Amino acid sequence: MLARFKPTWMIERFSDIDPDQLKQMGIHVVFSDLDNTLIAWNNPDGTPELREWMRKLADAQIQLIVVSNNSHDRIGRAVEKIGLPFVSRALKPLPVGINRTLKKMQLAPSEVVMVGDQIMTDILAANSAGIRSILVKPLLPSDKWITKPNRMMEKQVMRLMQGQDSQMQWQKELK
Ligand SMILES: [Mg+2]
Repeated sequence: MLARFKPTWMIERFSDIDPDQLKQMGIHVVFSDLDNTLIAWNNPDGTPELREWMRKLADAQIQLIVVSNNSHDRIGRAVEKIGLPFVSRALKPLPVGINRTLKKMQLAPSEVVMVGDQIMTDILAANSAGIRSILVKPLLPSDKWITKPNRMMEKQVMRLMQGQDSQMQWQKELK
């Protein structure tokens, strides 16, 4: 039951994810949540940290694609300046958006990882689609009101998972 909520890795920040290590694990494409994973609501233009990470991914020939539940217009506006490809209305926690994109890009599930800050949407969707996942800490502790119930459930689930598995701790790198 808890396995559905379990991320493959827990890395504090997106920028701690080393593209070379992803490559060693056979990952060629990163699907990522946008809000509070890559950009904070108070900094919609992205940060030098994000641009640097995008450059490192590109150097490692790893593609980064935003997979978001938001509408095409909203994400379009948000990533316009950063220049990221995106999938809108992904319907996370359902695997719909992930599966659609895997099919469209003709990718095997093993080639892809999903990065996100929410167990109840990002990690659940990744597990349902059968791809590996990386849970990151939200960039900002304050969420939109709509996320609050998810955060409360997430806390409980995390406590249960950590109670069962002492390995489930925040890391600074993939291992
Ligand atoms: Mg998010």
